Amino acid sequence: MVAEAVERDLSAIAITDHDVLTGIDAARAAAPDGLEIVPGIEMTAAWPDSARAVHVLGYFIDVTNTELLAALKRARDLMASHVDLVLEAIRRVGGTLEREHLDRYRHRYAGGAALVLGMLEGGVLRGALPGTGMRLLRMAAAEPRAYSVREAVSLIHAAGGVASLAHPSKLKRGEPLLPAEALAPFLASGMDAIEAWQWIPNGWGSRHYLSVAQTLGVLVSGGSDDHGKRTAEGKIRLGAQSVSAEVLEALRERSLVFRQRPAR
Ligand SMILES: [Zn+2]
Repeated sequence: MVAEAVERDLSAIAITDHDVLTGIDAARAAAPDGLEIVPGIEMTAAWPDSARAVHVLGYFIDVTNTELLAALKRARDLMASHVDLVLEAIRRVGGTLEREHLDRYRHRYAGGAALVLGMLEGGVLRGALPGTGMRLLRMAAAEPRAYSVREAVSLIHAAGGVASLAHPSKLKRGEPLLPAEALAPFLASGMDAIEAWQWIPNGWGSRHYLSVAQTLGVLVSGGSDDHGKRTAEGKIRLGAQSVSAEVLEALRERSLVFRQRPAR
């Protein structure tokens, strides 16, 4: 990622892995002087009465914050037990899917999506009784959540970071352009920003969410949401949705509010 960022002449990138911070030190160690690594996180959080997870981004977090580290570990442990349970259920109906098979879908740890992909692509449900496949797919998709949106936001704040609502265009299936009223309840959890500059081919949506942010009086963040996947041409998304220096500086300034808060 760092090498790709240098190649693209970027001056800063944020590392926001899902529920894990281990990539940040490596990125910092690899980064040359002209490239700032913004320490970040994307927390997979629960929202009441919704099966869909809400992703909460944190920027400028202190990666040594023990409260945040403990919460993230709890999330990964919960997910590991979930994966084990589903793999066991697959074995019980005579299917074979092992942890190693899931590695190709996730770089840091496996969750529901890796299980579903592994089951479908590996054909592990072939020959299972009718209804069994669907039951196992549903079981795999029903991931456990270690924190609510509100808890995620307060963990990010306690670690001196700013919290942003990730890719609002993906919050509700089939409704990419949500109005301000629809986002207000999420922001009421204490979020500082919304990801207005989200990676959408051709850039549509950003203008809409910039005006939503203005209506709601919150900051904006943005990024290419690069998950490392390569296109047929061998390209990755990094840098495909950049933000201006002003956007970065406004987030940094906001983070100082939380950094300067006296320790409890
Ligand atoms: Zn996300």
